[in-house]
Amino acid sequence: MGNVSVEEILEKIDIVEIVSEYVKLKKSGSSYKALCPFHPEKTPSFFIHPEKQIFHCFGCGIGGNAIKFLMNIEKISFYDALKILANKADIELSKKADIKESEEKKKAKKANEYAANLYNKVLFSQYGKRALEYLYQRDIRDEHINKFLIGFAPSNNYLLNKIEEERLNKDEFVLAALLDEDGKEDIFKNRIVFPIYNIREEIIGFGGRTIDDQILPKYLNTRENILFNKSASLYGINWAKESIKSKGFIILTEGYFDVLKMHINGLTNTVAPMGTAITDLHLNILRKLTDRILLLFDGDDAGIRACLRNLEPILKKGFEAKICMLPAGFDPDKFIDEYGVSSLNNFIEKSQNFIDFAISINSQLYDMKNSRARAIVIKEVLKLISYISDEIEKYEFLKELAEKMDIKIEILDKYLEEIKDENLSEKNKERFYTKLNEPQMDAEKFLFEIAFCDKKYWEKLSQYKGQLTERIEEIIMAGENLLKKGFEITPSFLINEFEDEGIVNFISSIAIKDNNEIPEDKKEKIFNDCLKKVKQKRLLSEIENCKKKMKEKMENGDDYEEELKKMQKLLYQLKKEK
Ligand SMILES: [Zn+2]
Repeated sequence: MGNVSVEEILEKIDIVEIVSEYVKLKKSGSSYKALCPFHPEKTPSFFIHPEKQIFHCFGCGIGGNAIKFLMNIEKISFYDALKILANKADIELSKKADIKESEEKKKAKKANEYAANLYNKVLFSQYGKRALEYLYQRDIRDEHINKFLIGFAPSNNYLLNKIEEERLNKDEFVLAALLDEDGKEDIFKNRIVFPIYNIREEIIGFGGRTIDDQILPKYLNTRENILFNKSASLYGINWAKESIKSKGFIILTEGYFDVLKMHINGLTNTVAPMGTAITDLHLNILRKLTDRILLLFDGDDAGIRACLRNLEPILKKGFEAKICMLPAGFDPDKFIDEYGVSSLNNFIEKSQNFIDFAISINSQLYDMKNSRARAIVIKEVLKLISYISDEIEKYEFLKELAEKMDIKIEILDKYLEEIKDENLSEKNKERFYTKLNEPQMDAEKFLFEIAFCDKKYWEKLSQYKGQLTERIEEIIMAGENLLKKGFEITPSFLINEFEDEGIVNFISSIAIKDNNEIPEDKKEKIFNDCLKKVKQKRLLSEIENCKKKMKEKMENGDDYEEELKKMQKLLYQLKKEK
């Protein structure tokens, strides 16, 4: 869907009308207020600004435009929300935009394919020598490398040079996020690259691992683009789908190498998310293949936490979950290396259902002879049971827990009711917590408060690009993007440019205010003062980074002259800003 029509749709609908279908609105000055539909409350803290076409709740911090409102209240995707709005606005979702999108996707896919084959070839050339050795060391052989189309991206803009040499269309590679947005630099440099396929066998992105452990991040994924959505992509799904169907279950694990090693050793029903917890989007894909998931994780603290985090959406979606924890410090890759695949299979055979898993990890933490500790454990397990939506299944698990913990099922039932209420209030606590946790950003807020009501300041902000905080720079870029597309910078349009809930809520919290709070004659001074503060904040964080690097180098006995010089420069700039 081309972005152009998103703004057109937003222009034609009224957020007040949309929201009023869900909550009762009351006029309050130039805005409307209501009881927030996203958190329980007795006095209204949910506001809508009809002029700016945004909403914001001061109670739980949620905000956005009409699209975000529908996405949140109906729990639907961006595209589905857009369809509803288009319908209301009597706009047929521009077919032209759809065609344009599918053409762009085709181009991006072509670019990915070209790059994957190029990188694969490079891996076997002189440039890939070290990477190849590394893979051999990890027991990944030529036939595997070719099956999974693993490659190597050298430094020095190797891809870009090839594109220019062969006179290919650079834009297509920017679309696929293989080059930076200006098309001037390779994204993957000095990394082993793993093409990520969708279920239809199309390459939608890449994961890259450094061969230099000094270089961070160790793993780098393709940035989000028209093809690649991290929270909907599963590494291995293309190779695993048939096997998942025939074996009747999915093995879910964590990293690229885990998936590879499992597949190589015949456990071909294995997939992994891209460094995130499992999402509803992942589960929607998997649901079409089976409804049984085996979580295979490292048994250390992080692994147990990851498992518990994944259990919530999995149980909520009605999957049957089994858990297999490897000994602490072992991921599947390492486990196979040390003990072989038949030991792994033995382990997998002994996997537990989620109740046994939860009881066993909790009984390691608590003394189960103590009745209070037992109550805590029971509650932990009940919490997991409370995620199950099917009442019959839920009852079966309650029965199982009652037997295992030797407690009456009626008592468990009562507990379960209490937990339901807690689940509700916890959701709000989480929101509230992220709100409290935000650093003081008054200066950032004032800058945008002023820029939103006076365009002249927007231009001024742009001039300081490169010297401001990350959040501000992102918003400025989004604004420039809108101007490029021929639209005005409005809060509602800006919100569209972001997926990150934090930034969306940040924008809505500023824009919801009526801007008469800042007197006209003080605007310029306040703006300049805030600008200064923000610039200082940026410098301070750069100094912090520089310090870290210097310390590292010092400890390694490396030369840190460069950092020292940079630090002096930064300190001098900071002094100037004061
Ligand atoms: Zn709220």
